[in-house]
Amino acid sequence: MTEQWSFDFDEGKRNRDHALQAVSSTDKAQDFDDRATPVILHLARTGEPFTTDDVWRILGPYDGERRVMGSTMRRLATKGLIQKTMSTRKSSMPACHARDKALWVGTSPTTTSCAKCGATLPNDDRRFRHKCWTEQGL
Ligand SMILES: [Zn+2]
Repeated sequence: MTEQWSFDFDEGKRNRDHALQAVSSTDKAQDFDDRATPVILHLARTGEPFTTDDVWRILGPYDGERRVMGSTMRRLATKGLIQKTMSTRKSSMPACHARDKALWVGTSPTTTSCAKCGATLPNDDRRFRHKCWTEQGL
């Protein structure tokens, strides 16, 4: 018996990323992303933990591929705007069969980047003293 069971986590992640990229590269998915992003950031700013149920509830019906939500959440998490907590909440959405859903929270990043030059700046009033703001009146 030479066959081995292996759990290749990286392989699984690559497959997932590939699948997400496929569902998130359509115009419809881009449109979803544009609508979902402000909703997610709004929930993040409340300071209360939230699940994607809360996002769906605000967004309303969507007839496209629902996995695009995962893509949008991961993009915002990668940017450091939201983060997954260790807690979960049972989904109240029929399609999810009461499975546990990750609870997310908004983060308050201590740094931000200049929209013009990309420099890393403190995320408070000090950023207005950055040259791009003072010189270009941004
Ligand atoms: Zn700058």
